Amino acid sequence: MRIPAGRPDAIALLTGGARGTVRFWQMPDCVLIEVRLHDLPQTETGFFAFHIHESAAGGHYDPAGLPHPRHAGDLPPLLACGQNAYLAVKTCRFRLRDILGRAAVIHSGPDDFRTQPSGNPGPKLAQGIICPFFQNKC
Ligand SMILES: [Zn+2]
Repeated sequence: MRIPAGRPDAIALLTGGARGTVRFWQMPDCVLIEVRLHDLPQTETGFFAFHIHESAAGGHYDPAGLPHPRHAGDLPPLLACGQNAYLAVKTCRFRLRDILGRAAVIHSGPDDFRTQPSGNPGPKLAQGIICPFFQNKC
């Protein structure tokens, strides 16, 4: 796979109890997602669950009506390195156009990949709305 450089197709600016960015590229066969987190609090495990939610106030993005962790918006957790974390992952569970305007959410704890409906990840730590990159803000 060729990793793209330069401007992404969409971005979410994360704010709350940590800050960061989630950048998205629509590839021919998948969506590439890159997450950078800063100012993370120290936690028991150092893992932070990561999901795409239907909206800022909604549950996990789940157009097919599946259980967690088979929701389209379910993604791998981040692992802190000091106060920072980085993750790059690709998913084939949605197209980028399907998640514009939805929320990228980081939780304060790990995802157990079992508990319904959301993996018992603790309170939301930071979130941002997914916007086309050229808009800068939504
Ligand atoms: Zn889920």
